[in-house]
Amino acid sequence: MKIIFAGTSHGIPEKDRFCSATFVGVGKRWYIIDAGAPISPLILRYGIAHRDVRGIFITHQHGDHFDGLPAFCIQIGWYYLDASPDIFLPTERGEKMLRYWVREGLQNEAAADGMKLHVYGNGPVYRDDAVEILAAPTRHLADSHAFLLRAEGKTVLFSGDMGENYAEFPELFGGVHSDLAVCECAHNTTFTDCFPTLARTDTARLVVNHIAPAKLGDAEARKGELPFPVTFAHDGLTVEL
Ligand SMILES: [Zn+2]
Repeated sequence: MKIIFAGTSHGIPEKDRFCSATFVGVGKRWYIIDAGAPISPLILRYGIAHRDVRGIFITHQHGDHFDGLPAFCIQIGWYYLDASPDIFLPTERGEKMLRYWVREGLQNEAAADGMKLHVYGNGPVYRDDAVEILAAPTRHLADSHAFLLRAEGKTVLFSGDMGENYAEFPELFGGVHSDLAVCECAHNTTFTDCFPTLARTDTARLVVNHIAPAKLGDAEARKGELPFPVTFAHDGLTVEL
């Protein structure tokens, strides 16, 4: 499994960081977790064909996790006609909003109506021959979620945005063991204040994503205090599992 952190900024993009978007490759198939970055041109940057994107999963509908999705859908409706991903949104409002946006952007009702949009809840979200994805609630919004992705015998936890200082993080999905856990870094007082909570997480490795620089404090110097290796993500960081 290959995981490309294509957008690692917090709510505001920076000169060399887009907002949240992560590409997960399993064989030739690709899955996208959040679309706060311009994912349509970005997949090309990483050598991914639009038709190979099988699923797009939005943790919650804040713009910095969602904004790149309408443009992606309009572009596949115009040009990448062999692409037909399943797209998972947390609310019916999101489904209606996206369909309306794409209908106007394409001026093509049939293409917009043909999009494979799904509203998911907690529990199993998606399964095919390559991956299984489940959702669990976080305390960020009424409709915000973490995802658990299983593929090739590995388990990856994506936190999405969480409540203040991540009290829910170690207990997500019943405290499941993960080969990699991805934790956001925007909704904390200072990231090091979360170390005691993060240390209870059962993971082999932690990647810190969605980084608000002001919240990092001296976390990079102190990362050895955590009981697993820690990587602070930048756009383009690629992890192979
Ligand atoms: Zn958010």
